[in-house]
Amino acid sequence: MPKKSIAIIGGGIGGLSSATFLARLGYKVTIYEKAKGPRPFGAGFLLQPPGQKVLAELGVLEEVEQLSVPIDGLVSKTSADRQLLNLNYSHIQGNRMHGLGVQRSSIYNALYNLALSRESIDFVWGADVVLNNANEQPSIQLGSSTQEYHLCVLASGSNSHLADAIFPDRVKKPYQWKCLWANIKLPIDFSENKLHQRCHHASKMMGILPVCRSHDGVDAVLYWSLSEEEAGCFSEQSFIVIKQEIMRFWPEASMSIEPLEYADFIVANYNDIWTPKPFHKNCILIGDISHSTSPQLGQGCTMALLDSWLLAQCLDSGQDTQDSLNEWWRLRKRQVKYVRYVSKLLTPLYQSDKKIFWWFRDYIVAPLGKVPWLYKLQINTLASNVFLKTKR
Ligand SMILES: Cc1cc2nc3c(=O)[nH]c(=O)nc-3n(C[C@H](O)[C@H](O)[C@H](O)COP(=O)(O)OP(=O)(O)OC[C@H]3O[C@@H](n4cnc5c(N)ncnc54)[C@H](O)[C@@H]3O)c2cc1C
Repeated sequence: MPKKSIAIIGGGIGGLSSATFLARLGYKVTIYEKAKGPRPFGAGFLLQPPGQKVLAELGVLEEVEQLSVPIDGLVSKTSADRQLLNLNYSHIQGNRMHGLGVQRSSIYNALYNLALSRESIDFVWGADVVLNNANEQPSIQLGSSTQEYHLCVLASGSNSHLADAIFPDRVKKPYQWKCLWANIKLPIDFSENKLHQRCHHASKMMGILPVCRSHDGVDAVLYWSLSEEEAGCFSEQSFIVIKQEIMRFWPEASMSIEPLEYADFIVANYNDIWTPKPFHKNCILIGDISHSTSPQLGQGCTMALLDSWLLAQCLDSGQDTQDSLNEWWRLRKRQVKYVRYVSKLLTPLYQSDKKIFWWFRDYIVAPLGKVPWLYKLQINTLASNVFLKTKR
């Protein structure tokens, strides 16, 4: 017999993984998802070693690994071929010493099918819910029906407004710079085990991340920095100019960019989100709705997975729910805070119009980054290995 019922709002990466972890503990879980059906969309991202560990705990790591590419490290250079970063996961001590370049759909599908296979998880699609957290038991109103739950997990991503009223001290600020994303074939002569990045000052940045081996080569995602102004007027006309610029910027990749059409590109916005205490009574925020950064550090998916795993570990301890939530935040807080500060510090070095930022990056940060302990700090930061705490 299921013991208590939990509502999860948002069936993305954090919501789906939480659902399975909580169902395993015996909870009856209902996922309320705004979309009308499963959304295995998105470009791709870097999944860090602790994120892989969470997938292993869920039993889907092998499945995801077969569809992804191991990434040994990150190489970042200026357009004048000056090396800014050359980070290698093999310099970290531990069992898993690589990142995974992965399409969002590969992780999404694995987590969705896992949740679908559990009888104690229900999906409500196209759900436009109202959350009421005034009482001890949170309640969810959907149309004319209202349902009480023991706990509500809000996992509705960085653009959701559901937390605004309950967490008034939550910080949410859009980043001024955006990104253009597209799926491409990995250019010839690019290593399939590296995240490749090229910058000109801080106003131009392009990255190429291998994400999947396919019958005709390696698929990769391309990202290209856009200023707020460029993003605002991105259209079929401006696309032609931007595409030419991207091809000139990295001529060795131009063959892979040439076939792309306007519809192949997605403009992505990012928010700096921080919630000083991401739970209130029996309502908790996990993933991007609680803490979100720019994608420079490749942490979003890993942080959401860690939130969900730790939450289940803490709820499993048999303590009172409030004590479990307090313990969860005690274990998560330092890492989440650290990732946010590093992201806020580094983002302007790669996305800004100001000379001082790229000058500081090229002539101070890059040389200092070769000092052994700073190098170690950088690679451990990339690998989500700083202030990482779990209960097992
Ligand atoms: C369609 C999509 C594509 C993405 N593509 C990329 C990508 O290419 N690269 C990248 O780095 N990151 C991408 N992301 C973000 C990435 O998945 C997250 O940063 C990360 O996985 C953290 O996950 P999360 O569970 O916090 O949020 P998400 O995975 O974003 O999931 C949030 C979920 O909540 C749902 N939701 C939102 N509002 C409500 C509401 N009011 N009621 C109910 N449900 C709601 C959304 O539809 C979504 O399914 C994408 C997210 C989405 C939703």
